[in-house]
Amino acid sequence: MTRPEFTPIPPPGRALAIGAHPDDIEFGAGGTLAAWARAGSHVVMAVMTDGSKGSWNPEENPAALVERRATEQRAAAGVLGATGVEMLGNVHGELENSMGLRSRVAALVRSYRPDVVLSHDPWARYEIHPDHRATGWAVVDGVVAARDHLFFPEHDLDHHRPELLLLWRAAEPDHWEDIAPTFDVKLEALMRHQSQHHTTMGNAGAGASEREAFAERLRGYAAEQGALVGLGAAESFKRIRL
Ligand SMILES: [Zn+2]
Repeated sequence: MTRPEFTPIPPPGRALAIGAHPDDIEFGAGGTLAAWARAGSHVVMAVMTDGSKGSWNPEENPAALVERRATEQRAAAGVLGATGVEMLGNVHGELENSMGLRSRVAALVRSYRPDVVLSHDPWARYEIHPDHRATGWAVVDGVVAARDHLFFPEHDLDHHRPELLLLWRAAEPDHWEDIAPTFDVKLEALMRHQSQHHTTMGNAGAGASEREAFAERLRGYAAEQGALVGLGAAESFKRIRL
């Protein structure tokens, strides 16, 4: 098998990353976004849902959890160097790729005018989380709508065509970003999602050894992605030229 080619792109002027839940963007593209922000890119993170199901604690108050997760998301964005966060506030677990959601994505694209849009890959096989699938589809469909002025004229915003769509956790990755220089920033941003330490991060906040175990898992995944193109640590994507 021939090795796929590592074809880095220059940091875009503006990037818009759209994730289903607080922390999805950091897992999928945190290292890439941190590198771009360092290079001067304007990075905006949009989160589709309120994260209100993200707890294993039977005593959890969902309203308090929503507030906490928004605060954590802003802190994580600060670590990555993002310039903006949009919390769209849809109910966690109940997201649907409706015309309303497509319109919301198109309006975000027309407002922020990104060169690159990043999100979940809706074609990823065996993706069981409905919010990840719905977000991927809404982003692909919303980007298509944003480019032509006759879609959603009620936005009263100029149409906008990003150059690239990058989809993380892709079924067929064909683009890699070197995250060796920003791996620690990605880890630090993820650690700001303290409410998730217990659920998706192996209790990473409990102590130094738990944090290191989580870092090791993250490092292993980045190394696996990077090995495909001869990098020590990478995030991989499906790249779609628009
Ligand atoms: Zn998620």
